[in-house]
Amino acid sequence: MELEQLWQAVLGEVELQISRPNFVTWLKNSRLMNRQDGVVFVSLPNSFAKEWVENKYHKIIFSALRNKDSATKKVEYIVENKSSSAAKSAPRGTKNSALDTTSKDQQSFVELKVDPETNLNPKYTLNSFIVGSSNELPYAAATGVIKEVGKKYNPLFIYGGVGLGKTHLIQALGNEIRSFYENKVKVKYVSSEKFTNDVIWAMRNKRMEDVKEKYRLTDVLIIDDIQFIGGKEKTEEEFFHTFNALYENNKQIIISSDRPPRFLPTLEERLRSRFEGGMVAEINPPDYELRMAILKTKLQEKNSSLQDNVIDLIATKVQKNLRELEGILNKILFYKNTKNMEITPKLAEEIINETVQQPIKNINPNHIIKVVAEFFEISPNDLTGRCRKNSVAEPRQIAMYLLRDLLGLSYPFIGEKLGKRDHTTAIYAYNKLSQEIAKDQNLNQKIISLKDMISKE
Ligand code: ADP
Ligand code: MG
Repeated sequence: MELEQLWQAVLGEVELQISRPNFVTWLKNSRLMNRQDGVVFVSLPNSFAKEWVENKYHKIIFSALRNKDSATKKVEYIVENKSSSAAKSAPRGTKNSALDTTSKDQQSFVELKVDPETNLNPKYTLNSFIVGSSNELPYAAATGVIKEVGKKYNPLFIYGGVGLGKTHLIQALGNEIRSFYENKVKVKYVSSEKFTNDVIWAMRNKRMEDVKEKYRLTDVLIIDDIQFIGGKEKTEEEFFHTFNALYENNKQIIISSDRPPRFLPTLEERLRSRFEGGMVAEINPPDYELRMAILKTKLQEKNSSLQDNVIDLIATKVQKNLRELEGILNKILFYKNTKNMEITPKLAEEIINETVQQPIKNINPNHIIKVVAEFFEISPNDLTGRCRKNSVAEPRQIAMYLLRDLLGLSYPFIGEKLGKRDHTTAIYAYNKLSQEIAKDQNLNQKIISLKDMISKE
């Protein structure tokens, strides 16, 4: 049997045994990569999915594989290489598969050009960063750093919501510093995930000194999405030492985060106050003018055009984030250029509506409870009942959190609904989860997946 056929047959069998939302979330993007000497290699789009599938569905998958091919001895789960997995998750909500392919190719093409020494992607420049009232402060702070690296704003701490341009700005700043000093200044860009992995690797291999060297030898250290570092004790400690060593030697540190330092709950106090001692600047959601400016510039870059009323429509309707704005523009241009369709405001609106994640509406508490129960493979009655088993406690807290977060329901109502509990239990659950989500990536992923499932159905 061909690999593809075999995997489809296996998935068919697995699908019967787990809940539909779980199947869609965890296995839809899986692939059978290879089969050799009875070892079957299954690829998953990211390490979180890998861990989840390995822990929860391995038995089912293995026995389904054995049913189809009795020579199967072992299953190895692997994470498909980063560029393709990033590309897969990037066009979230994009339902057109042909478009997925284009953006995937573009993405891997762009990623190929990342400078291995600095990890900077040259596509991010300050020139292409369009400034409006929502981002002028962080932009000014960034440009202020260039001529006085390590002196003026140190650390530079940029925060703001998803897709608002943090990565673009801090990478562009890195590129700019490199060219301003004619490559004589050592710049290093890392995601906090990469930093964490480096530290973990070094601990396992007793190579801590190498990692320390690597980071401490840089003149400018750029760390993206610092919120993911907090809470991992050893990495945080290592980060703190690196930070101090660099800081004391007047090296420049540039950090991005999805929230201001004071809301990084698990971050040690000493680190937080260091962050606050530098320059903290927020990127706000783009206003209409900035959205228009970005659309027009991107159209120019792509040598393309759209009717004014279509551009206006996109800028009016796509408000939340710039990544989505770009994604929708690309999608519309795909219809225009590849499918040769005339882009009327009506068509543009249809494309926007099918792409933009609709705000969660028409969702009632029972629906949320049902989805959470399915996700954890327990019964909704377990959640609404008084059962105190551990296996129910976490899902129940998550359900409480989601009822509050998504529907803004009152704590007494939530407590009553989920096991006739006191309102303080609901408050406790909400606060606890809010804090843990910030430090625990796995939990954060669970919540994201759950919200996705809740809004889809
Ligand atoms: P974040 O890191 O905050 O999630 P990104 O930096 O990845 O966001 O930005 C998302 C997309 O929007 C990127 O393609 C980026 O180039 C683009 N973008 C963001 N801000 C701007 C801006 N001010 N001007 C031009 N493009 C921008
Ligand atoms: Mg980013």
